[in-house]
Amino acid sequence: MSQNQFPANFIKIFGTAGARVAQCKQLRASGGAWLRLDDTNLLFDPGPGTLVHCWAGDKPLNPGLLDGVILSHRHLDHSNDFNVMVEAMVEGGFKPHGIAAAPSDALNSPEPIFFHYLRPVVDHIYVLEEGTSFQVGQVKVSTPVRHYHPVETYGFLFSGRRVNIAVITDTRYFPQLGEAYKGADLLILNVTFLHTFHSSKAFHLSIDEIGPLIEEINPQLTVLTHFGARILEKNPTLLARDMSRRLNRKIIAAYDGMILNLDDLSAGG
Ligand SMILES: [Zn+2]
Repeated sequence: MSQNQFPANFIKIFGTAGARVAQCKQLRASGGAWLRLDDTNLLFDPGPGTLVHCWAGDKPLNPGLLDGVILSHRHLDHSNDFNVMVEAMVEGGFKPHGIAAAPSDALNSPEPIFFHYLRPVVDHIYVLEEGTSFQVGQVKVSTPVRHYHPVETYGFLFSGRRVNIAVITDTRYFPQLGEAYKGADLLILNVTFLHTFHSSKAFHLSIDEIGPLIEEINPQLTVLTHFGARILEKNPTLLARDMSRRLNRKIIAAYDGMILNLDDLSAGG
């Protein structure tokens, strides 16, 4: 019952629900993902249920081992367990350590996500901006571009000794997106809509428009996640398989609890 049951370098995707309907009905779990890369443990986008998912099942992950909790944006499906996970990281406050990182409007707005009383328990708080870059343990964390979303939002580049991971969190498509994440070995891509709809409320990527984006970034493996209700009706696994054939690339759909072995990637797999 320890992290030794996991690959040396991995991502565990706790939840694959995207946006409100999929989250509220728990059509898929919500809850972000845990990254262990080069002995550094980071948790990003802890939506509702993250702490439960950490301890659940026959392969629990102990949040006390985390080196940081990182937030792409303040929407509830990403941020609900942010305080919960920071407190779990420091074991209720008894072992202060680690970092927290979030956009300015999640930290400094009149209604911040990160409770003030908890802030002294972490070693450092990073305010994410476009072009922010910092080191946590052996991993460089960067937020290369501000996303197009109703609140301040960033994706992540996690750079380890051998593997670079891009996480494109919520955003509408915009032309600079591909360039910002180009060359990642692994791409985690939040794709919430089935079809692109041209509306001022379309703040997520769709299956229709991600092909050229994946080709521009050119990762070894693309993992689709953050699915809305329409995609779930169509079966994301089949949609990913179809896209994989059409583009002749490795594209898969995440499922709740999926564990990706990052050492397969660095070996060229
Ligand atoms: Zn959002």
